Amino acid sequence: MRYGARLNRKKLGPMSFTLAIVGRPNVGKSTLFNRLVGKKLALVDDQPGVTRDLREGEARLGDLRFTVIDTAGLEDATDNSLEGRMRRLTERAVDMADVCLFMIDARTGVTPVDEMFADILRKKSAHVILAANKSEGSAADAGVLEAYGLGLGEPIRLSGEHGEGLNDLYSQLLPISERFEKTAQDNAPLTDVSVDEDLDDEDAEYEVPQPTMDKPLQVAVVGRPNAGKSTLINKILGEDRLLTGPEAGITRDAISLKIDWAGTPMRVFDTAGMRKKAKVQEKLEKLSVSDGLRAVKFAEVVVVLLDADIPFEQQDLRIADLAEREGRAVVVAVNKWDIEDNKQEKLKNLKEAFARLLPQLRGAPLVTVSAKTGKGLDRLHAAIMRAYDVWNRRVPTAALNRWLIGMLEQHPPPAPQGKRIKLRYMTQAKTRPPGFVVMCSHPDKIPASYTRYLVNGLREDFDMPGTPIRLYMRGQA
Ligand code: GDP
Ligand code: GDP
Repeated sequence: MRYGARLNRKKLGPMSFTLAIVGRPNVGKSTLFNRLVGKKLALVDDQPGVTRDLREGEARLGDLRFTVIDTAGLEDATDNSLEGRMRRLTERAVDMADVCLFMIDARTGVTPVDEMFADILRKKSAHVILAANKSEGSAADAGVLEAYGLGLGEPIRLSGEHGEGLNDLYSQLLPISERFEKTAQDNAPLTDVSVDEDLDDEDAEYEVPQPTMDKPLQVAVVGRPNAGKSTLINKILGEDRLLTGPEAGITRDAISLKIDWAGTPMRVFDTAGMRKKAKVQEKLEKLSVSDGLRAVKFAEVVVVLLDADIPFEQQDLRIADLAEREGRAVVVAVNKWDIEDNKQEKLKNLKEAFARLLPQLRGAPLVTVSAKTGKGLDRLHAAIMRAYDVWNRRVPTAALNRWLIGMLEQHPPPAPQGKRIKLRYMTQAKTRPPGFVVMCSHPDKIPASYTRYLVNGLREDFDMPGTPIRLYMRGQA
């Protein structure tokens, strides 16, 4: 029974799919629902198979459009029937949906009721995206890690209220959406093409998105106005699709652009530079910052494009810092290198400024390019691919623990009040970007300098430039 899916696919067109947000009360389902649906909320309690307990709406996330179902209405159920109602409602939502967003509250951690939900989803063999919500800030770290224990894959760090982590949700929904797109295309009236039977099977399991290169790599090119973003993307496209130049008033509606760069499918996210060009400079600065932010949130790799003449402006620094905090892979590209006279001297100065102004991006590649002539674009492509690769890297646990022993011997952790902190064991808990957990005594007493020592060591010894590295210290349970 897939009422919701069927009804709404008609409404939204054949490309859309249905996402159900499930989880116990108060984890933040409605907040996310409202964010996805915005003002255009449609209550559809008069449709067959859809009751008052299930809210449906048309969701937008980036360029994706889909139907979202929220298992609301549970808040009023305060009596003993709550568990039974929750179960029935969730089962119905799962049956209606193509994919389920299973939400837990990362601040509370995993509760027995969450476990019950996980069981339902497993029994139903639902396609599950796991989200650890309320993840803004470090108070959520422990809960995010607990979520791995549900055995439903890697959780997305989400904050529905603050709109964080939507890029990761997007990344997971994109392949599902593309599958529907493909199904729709294949179901269109045929001329002489044959159809792959499997694509007709609505209940077929979707592939869990993996970091493979058959999905377009999501790239944001960010930087101050006039850094050369449009010129760069035009050069890669090999045609004048974006319209560069000093004239004002050229706009584009597209949020992203699919390109093929040296055999790599990429989706390049729109920023203000690609939009062009408000008349008032101040307005432009504002526009470009907020657009840049949005592009960063949707990207896997962020290319910070600097103008060689005015590198590391405040705005560049801010957006590079944001990319690091958002956990994106980062490549710094210095543009307009064609008009630079003293290239060697300049490069030396740039590297010094980079190390001084963006220490948090230590190890990120710095590539000189000319968007105008195309020189250096092959190296930029290589740097993007490598940063993406590192961002996805997984280090085996055995190698990590051998490494940890060496690091501890070389430089033992401090001993506050004469009691030495023990670092016992470590493992890589996540990728994109790489995140590691160290089990230790007194995690709160470990100074930031020691964590930095370990992070820098990881970066160098396992060759992981160009990606943020997260290190979580956890006390033994
Ligand atoms: P639902 O019962 O699962 O639909 O949860 P709601 O969306 O009604 O949210 C429950 C409470 O959690 C509300 O007070 C929200 O403001 C709060 N909340 C929702 N999302 C977040 C978040 O991302 N971070 C934090 N800190 N609070 C959130
Ligand atoms: P955006 O605002 O970042 O999209 O910048 P544009 O792509 O519109 O470029 C701004 C100006 O810089 C234009 O006049 C471009 O022709 C010029 N420009 C862009 N890239 C280069 C380059 O590599 N070398 C030189 N000399 N000029 C460039």
